[in-house]
Amino acid sequence: MEKLKHKILKEGKAIGTQIIKVDGFVNHQIDVKFMEELGEALAQRFAGEKVDKILTVESSGIAIACLTAPHFGYPPVVFAKKSVPNTLSEEFYHSEAKSFTKGTTSHIVVSRSFLSPGDRVLILDDFLAHGQASLALVRIIEQAQAHVAGVGIAIEKAFQGGRRKLEQEGLKVESLAIIDKIQDGKVFFG
Ligand code: 5GP
Repeated sequence: MEKLKHKILKEGKAIGTQIIKVDGFVNHQIDVKFMEELGEALAQRFAGEKVDKILTVESSGIAIACLTAPHFGYPPVVFAKKSVPNTLSEEFYHSEAKSFTKGTTSHIVVSRSFLSPGDRVLILDDFLAHGQASLALVRIIEQAQAHVAGVGIAIEKAFQGGRRKLEQEGLKVESLAIIDKIQDGKVFFG
């Protein structure tokens, strides 16, 4: 999506060679009009798919998910929570995602009430890097005996290999902007 690439070039801030900050329109302040366009573009990539639910991770994925939902007839947007409740009980599906950038492992949970066997679930997120967050969501969908309808991403960093891991699982992955490399403060697209 050319408009997203331009916005990243204009407003994004490269941190070293691995991270790009897009606080001005995704991660700290949301450009709602622009996010609507991202939602429409993501929905087009999965046109014809039956989507019963959209699944993302709090917090940055929520806006994109909510603005994609109208194009599928307003399915519920479920967001995995990063704070694991004290009593990790039978009520939750649970999965782990390693953060290569932070060097930490985060636990995510989704209440069993919000995913049902047979649901067709579209995974959406702001970034695809090493694929850990998306894979953690895939594992949760599997636990629910639901189906992954696909993985839709706003910004993919191709050099971190997440797509390969997801495609190895037979999943359809669609990204609106694919970054090939970040070097000397500049972003290069594929
Ligand atoms: P992965 O799990 O694919 O390694 O990383 C994806 C998750 O980490 C996304 O949910 C996103 O929130 C965060 N993330 C990864 N790379 C970046 C980045 O360059 N910039 C921002 N803002 N978030 C990132």
